[in-house]
Amino acid sequence: MTAGLKWRATLALMVAVPGTVLAQVDRGPVTVGTAVARRGETAYGAIIVAPGVDSGTAIPVAVVYGTRPGPVLAVIAGSHGTEYTSTVALTRLIARLDPKTIAGTVIIAPLLNLASFRQMTVHANPVDGKGMNGQYPGDASGTQTQRALAAVADQIIKPADVILDLHGGDLDEDLRPYAYWFRGGVAAQDSAGKALALAFGLDHIIILDMDLTSPVSRRNVGGHALALGKTVVIAEAGRSGIVLSDDVAALIDGTLNVMGALRMLDRPVRLVEHPVWLDAGARVAGDGDGMFYATVGRGTFVTEGMPIGYTTDFLGRRTGEVRAPASGVVTFIRGVPSMWKGATLVNIGRVLPEPPPYAKPTR
Ligand SMILES: [Zn+2]
Repeated sequence: MTAGLKWRATLALMVAVPGTVLAQVDRGPVTVGTAVARRGETAYGAIIVAPGVDSGTAIPVAVVYGTRPGPVLAVIAGSHGTEYTSTVALTRLIARLDPKTIAGTVIIAPLLNLASFRQMTVHANPVDGKGMNGQYPGDASGTQTQRALAAVADQIIKPADVILDLHGGDLDEDLRPYAYWFRGGVAAQDSAGKALALAFGLDHIIILDMDLTSPVSRRNVGGHALALGKTVVIAEAGRSGIVLSDDVAALIDGTLNVMGALRMLDRPVRLVEHPVWLDAGARVAGDGDGMFYATVGRGTFVTEGMPIGYTTDFLGRRTGEVRAPASGVVTFIRGVPSMWKGATLVNIGRVLPEPPPYAKPTR
């Protein structure tokens, strides 16, 4: 009990550090794109990305401007537009938030990659073929993804103290829900991220160390935001294009839990007591065109060398057996037969007894 209390006190201390400045100082409206929220209001709008070298887009955004001072939390989803669970969760979250009871400001963007959603294109923006979580800080004179991310970086990430990026297991991913703890090697920032990952509530947490001096690490939103000094949490629930109420609830509750930990909501903070810490994992990639069939499910604990699936050609003849590249938890496994050279068939997270010290990646 005392340990819990101590944790809670530490947590409040750590997560109170960033922010609180914007909402306290600025009593004028909060504007994100066309959404203009006065204090105590929720505003709806979009970030308009004008046509350039290719077509434009409009990124839906809501701003919930609380009556009491507090941090600015940005919650985004749908950089992968067919990870529906995350987008559905955020569309439902907006109405759940009452600005009259909130401290600080919440910027919610449920669907960054509208073209991916509309055309049901996995992983990338079909307009330019670029990944919408891999082009930060964007480029105002680039293609649609780059222009969109330049606007997201400027209007959503920059004003926020804390970034929560939600994902939902893509159409091809039979995924076990988990959170990510991104670490950049700055102790206070990494501790704050850990506290929020534990508050979110998913009991499997993948630890990912980044070298923030490398532009490659800063191309995804987590690395970009960490490099700007923000606190970052990333969480993923959902799978294979289906939207299940338990997964939606996990993402909504997790977001509310983070708000509780940030004291933006009057909500008790319950940290995951015994998280399963995982490393970034070992992956098996397809060795050519063909069909893949999984024989284990997401979340299964496997030992190295254990069969986890098999492959065939397009006439049903067996071409190979797929074995676990490591012992650990199946964080996700290919949920559809489509296979090509380089396609991820399975990812296995190795269980870490304790979070190891930060280690700057060498690659
Ligand atoms: Zn995703």
